[in-house]
Amino acid sequence: MRVLVAGGAGYIGSVVTAALLTARHEVTVLDDLSTGHADAVPAGATLAAVSLHESAPVLAEVRPEAVLHFAAKSLVGASQQRPHEYWETNVGGSLALLEAMKAADCRRIVFSSTAATYGEPESVPIREDAPTRPTNTYGASKLAVDHMLTSYAVAHGFAAVSLRYFNVAGAAYGLGERHATETHLIPIALEVAAGKREALTVYGEDYPTPDGTCIRDYVHVEDLADAHLLALPAPAEGEHRIYNLGNGTGFSVQEVVDAVRQVTGHPVPVVVGERRAGDPAQLVASSDRIRADLGWAPRHTDLAGIVRDAWTVSQAR
Ligand code: UDP
Repeated sequence: MRVLVAGGAGYIGSVVTAALLTARHEVTVLDDLSTGHADAVPAGATLAAVSLHESAPVLAEVRPEAVLHFAAKSLVGASQQRPHEYWETNVGGSLALLEAMKAADCRRIVFSSTAATYGEPESVPIREDAPTRPTNTYGASKLAVDHMLTSYAVAHGFAAVSLRYFNVAGAAYGLGERHATETHLIPIALEVAAGKREALTVYGEDYPTPDGTCIRDYVHVEDLADAHLLALPAPAEGEHRIYNLGNGTGFSVQEVVDAVRQVTGHPVPVVVGERRAGDPAQLVASSDRIRADLGWAPRHTDLAGIVRDAWTVSQAR
């Protein structure tokens, strides 16, 4: 298929681009390089370095049969401080992209949604029919796009899938997380292990969990790539499907730190800090729906394996 990958210079988008190329799809990456890296775009894909707001000429020229949409601002804290950026890029940008798709007669899309659309869960594991009550602007902006896709499916015959990622981690095709402002637990812990930071601050150890630290569902980026390839042809015209993507197993911050110590063989000094605003105690996915519908199954369920892949790629840079 001829596909356009919006946000293909970012962490997840670049890995999925590599997987698409391996599966012999023809890929154009659209990315304004605001947080992505041109050198992360796999050889074999063409890069159009423009924003979502300027996507119409690219779609008119490329005439893709499908779009995979990863392009977004994704920092929860920043979304609280500078909401305008999140509404403008995530919602305004996505609206421009959908209009550009309509004009280019392309109606198939896979969208990167998030567990943050659910907010504080009433129960775990979280299923797709759980209430969506985001607790931050990032989650609200992603949920707005999910709603946008439902209405474009109904009104304009779009075939859409929203994949709600839990905590994406690991590395594949030599591509890993590389954010100018790193906020995620595993890459920060690996930087501490590598001696690039002094200590890891654990955001709270008084949560109602067995060791007092927050529990998250870490899913390997390669398993995520599998899910995108399965999701791409799945929906019929006029259909919008929503799928959670997680391992279904939760690991605590303490367990992640222990895994990083074990995998790297280096000390990881820890400081216990305050809770981070808006952090639910536990976020664990039920991915039963995508398993049943598309036969997806994660291949990397072992935390040490996920951490090892991230460590190996971070060391190679
Ligand atoms: N966390 C932490 N210290 C850090 C970064 C994250 O204790 O320096 C915790 C955070 O509170 C959460 C978990 O690690 O419970 C995962 O956070 P991350 O930012 O990686 O992903 P999120 O769950 O926010 O999407």
